[in-house]
Amino acid sequence: MSSTATLETLLRDPSLNKPLRDIAEKVAQQQRITPEEGVMLFEEAELAYLGILANYIREQKQGDNTYFNRNFHIEPTNLCVYTCKFCSYSRLIKQRHEGWEYTMEDMLDIVYKYDGEPVTEVHIVGGVLPQYDVPFYVELFKKIKAHRPELHIKALTPVEYHYIFKKAKLSYEEGMKIIAESGVDSLPGGGAEIFHPEIREKIAGDKCTGEQWLRLHEIWHQLGRRSNATMLYGHIENYSHRIHHLEELRKLQDKTGGFQTFIPLKFRNKDNEMSHLEEVSTIEDLRNYAISRIYLDNFGHIKAYWPMISRSVAQMALSFGVDDIDGTIDDTTKIYSMAGSEEQNPAMSTRDLVNLIRSVGRRPLERDTLYNVIQDYTDFAFEEDKQFRGYLDLPVVNQ
Ligand code: SF4
Repeated sequence: MSSTATLETLLRDPSLNKPLRDIAEKVAQQQRITPEEGVMLFEEAELAYLGILANYIREQKQGDNTYFNRNFHIEPTNLCVYTCKFCSYSRLIKQRHEGWEYTMEDMLDIVYKYDGEPVTEVHIVGGVLPQYDVPFYVELFKKIKAHRPELHIKALTPVEYHYIFKKAKLSYEEGMKIIAESGVDSLPGGGAEIFHPEIREKIAGDKCTGEQWLRLHEIWHQLGRRSNATMLYGHIENYSHRIHHLEELRKLQDKTGGFQTFIPLKFRNKDNEMSHLEEVSTIEDLRNYAISRIYLDNFGHIKAYWPMISRSVAQMALSFGVDDIDGTIDDTTKIYSMAGSEEQNPAMSTRDLVNLIRSVGRRPLERDTLYNVIQDYTDFAFEEDKQFRGYLDLPVVNQ
């Protein structure tokens, strides 16, 4: 049954209560839901209902298209001047022996390692340390671009930018212009956590505020550049805080149109100062994807970051509003494995990613960072699969 027919069936269901029917009708008519309705979805709506609405929106916007890219990460350091309570990754400066601090050469060596490989993006994000300042990063970005001009640099979050601009006595506007000119193509979505000060002050009090995070993205968008957005959920926030976060993003997107993708990030509880909290269930993960898809009507894409939630949940998420499952990554990030995620050495080959998408009936598209399609893998036959097919094609003997 098509997603439109499924939604029509839902609307004919006499047992559906009026508030949920009103929301379903709004979705069918491509109308925006209110913050109060968003909170109500979190509090009352069942997974099946949310899946029908989110999948309808996903298919209206993207059909079966499911995107991934070929990327690698550079994490300059896991030492950090900040002390976010949910962070399993950072080793404080006093635990320096447990950390790493890459030099410029170390980072360039990672880039050189991918020479000749068909990667299209490098994702650079890590802890915050004084030696990684504006001159350091400008030199790094320029050197990467000089070496491989077509490699898309997606680098640093407002957490780092706020810190390095303050240290360099630059306004946000001046700083972002310097960064744009140094070769950074887009910003990843990290550091957003939860914008609401009631929660942010408790879990990440000393780094940039929600307002500062939004302002830095706004300036970046005004320079004609694109970025992503995240939300860290499933810790001490309540549903109103999540909707407040989504509402702030939706408002900024109305203003600039510069966001590409929204990526919900699940709180994981290993080795951090909030380890006493239980992690939310997979059902809650899927509900959160679906409500994000319903609420953020002006975002093109919702991404499931597979190293964080596992491959099978990422696959399920494709029926709950998600149309992007990130990239091959090639075991170059430690941020989620150190927090206890299922994927301890996250790497997937292109064939793995394509098969993961194809096996749930979606259309695998390799994209670049800006969602230009590089290759449609719908009917692509990998060498390994061709060999296997030979075995299947043995002649059938009629009885
Ligand atoms: S979340 Fe980021 S800013 Fe916060 S402590 Fe960890 S590395 Fe530092």
